[in-house]
This record gives sequence, structure tokens and C-alpha cells, in this order.
Amino acid sequence: MKIRDLFEEKTVFSFEVFPPKKTSPVEVVYDTLDELRDLKPDFISVTFGAGGSGNSAYACEIASRIKESGVIPMLHLPCINFTRAEIDSTLAEAQKRGIENILALRGDINPDIPPVKDFEHASDLISYIRSKGDFDIAGACYPEVHPDAHSLVEDILNLKKKVDAGADHLITQLFFDNDSFYDFREKAALAGINVPIEAGIMPVVNKKQIERMVTTCGASLPRKFVRIMQRFEHDPEALRDAGIAYAVDQIVDLAASGVDGIHLYTMNNPYVARRISEAVSGILGK
Ligand code: FAD
Repeated sequence: MKIRDLFEEKTVFSFEVFPPKKTSPVEVVYDTLDELRDLKPDFISVTFGAGGSGNSAYACEIASRIKESGVIPMLHLPCINFTRAEIDSTLAEAQKRGIENILALRGDINPDIPPVKDFEHASDLISYIRSKGDFDIAGACYPEVHPDAHSLVEDILNLKKKVDAGADHLITQLFFDNDSFYDFREKAALAGINVPIEAGIMPVVNKKQIERMVTTCGASLPRKFVRIMQRFEHDPEALRDAGIAYAVDQIVDLAASGVDGIHLYTMNNPYVARRISEAVSGILGK
């Protein structure tokens, strides 16, 4: 089933998982998938390392496993470090396994890996995938501006190119301030971007995540969020509960504003995904 068709029926609720490290067997993620499946998400997406991080060979295998369990899979596909032949082979593998949904990405540029340049931007990959078969294609978008872009206007105009190239729907980078999403959505609409936009929500439930958020994520941290993190950072249980509550609060507000969908960055943590799913099930109409 194509994910684009789901948006006509409901507020889509999806999960994201990542493959295990190269040193671990792929099976370590299977228990997580079984638990996530029981929560009946509309789809589960699998990340794919643009080069160096994670084990991308696992990504197709995990997407297949999701499909076998009765959930719609989406395969992330970054292009910056891959040749056209490598992209062809991944798309062929996806087709063989009946994976119809692709999140087409550029991938982060790693200073240690010179880009291949067969595809420079996600929009190049999107047009290419369009020419290769009847895939559902999603793209990434950035309510608080992609770090390489000079302005929100430039970034949104580039996003429009992605949609014109054939993106069926979009998923946002994580954010903690819903107002940044509402501003972005309004500007995207003014630019003529009229495909569904799922909001990416990341529950911050442990100290390691807080440190990562503060140093690398680039998302603005509202005062309420910072207060919660500072108050509970040394109390793991309180921090977990507070992080879940914050994510639920964001989702309730987004649902009230008519969001097209919620994409939950599960961090492979089914306990947290369950708590959030249960809290919002009535709101999202599941
Ligand atoms: P692009 O759309 O190519 O945009 C990158 C930059 O180029 C932006 O500044 C944009 O404004 C500009 N730009 C875009 N098109 C044009 C154009 N035609 N002309 C000029 N400038 C242009 N990374 C992974 O490696 N693996 C994953 O699995 C993964 N999953 C992700 C999932 C989501 C939901 C999100 C939001 C990001 C994910 N990423 C992943 C990270 C992503 O690869 C990086 O953010 C990357 O730096 C940009 O990818 P993009 O597809 O948005 O690139």
C-alpha cells in the first residue's frame, strides 16, 4: 500500500526505527519491531546510513520484516555517497521485496567522504525514483531551516523543487516548538507546497539525548522544555515521564491544529512508543 493514500483517510501516525550497529546481528531489532507492530502504526520507516554510520545492508531486510508483520514499511534512501548503480540496486531490491515507499534523501555530507555527485540533491533522487517505477516518495523538510540553507525562504523554495520533482508527502526534522512548525507550514503553503506534511516528534527521555540535543540538533529549545530537562536530568524515571509528557503535549496541540500526521522518532524504544501511542490514541482517531 502507498502511504500517500493514507492521508486522505486519517491523521497518519508513523514510527521510525534505525538498524542495529554493524557489529550486532540484525535480529536484535526484531523484538523491537514486534512490540511496535502491536501498537498498530500506519507505517514504520527504517533509516539508512548515508555512509559510515549504521549498517545500510540491514535496512532492506528490516523493511521486509516490517512488511511481513503486516505493517507498511518505508525505506529511507540517502543518495550523496552512492552511485547511480548502487541506487538502482537498492531500488531493485526494494521492488523485489515489495517495498513501495521510499523516503528520498540527500544524506548529510561527511567531510571525510567525498560526495559521489551522481545525485546532488534529494530532488535529483526523487525525479530519478519517479522514472524507475510506481513508488510512493517522501521527502524531508526543516521547520527551523536546513543547516546548509542561508534562509527559510531559500530552503522553502528548494523544498518546492523537491515536491515538483515528485515528492508525495513530507516528514519534518524533529522540533520542540510547535510554533516553528506552524510558521513553516504556512510559508510552505504560500509557496504552493500542498502535499501532506507529517510532524517529526522526538521524545527526549534520557540524559544522553539531552546532551545531543543541546550540542548538535539545532532545534530551538523552548523555555518550558529546558526547565523540564534541567529539573529532571539526574532522575532517570522522572526525566523519562517528563519527556513522554512533553511529546504527548506537542502531539495534542498539533492534532488540534489539523496536522496531517505525526512521525515518532522511536529511538528503537517500544516502551516509550507505547506510552505515547496509548496517550494519543483517542486524539489521533486510532
Ligand atoms: P536536500 O533536499 O538535498 O537539501 C539539502 C540542502 O540543499 C538544503 O539546504 C536545501 O535547501 C538545499 N537544496 C535542496 N535542493 C536544492 C536544489 N535543487 N538546489 C539548490 N539547493 C538545494 N540521513 C541519512 O543519512 N539517513 C537517513 O535515514 C535519514 N533520515 C532522515 C529522516 C528525516 C525525516 C529527516 C528530516 C532527515 C533524515 N536524514 C537522514 C538527514 C538528511 O539526510 C540530512 O538532513 C541532509 O543533510 C539533507 O537531506 P535532504 O534530503 O533534506 O537534502
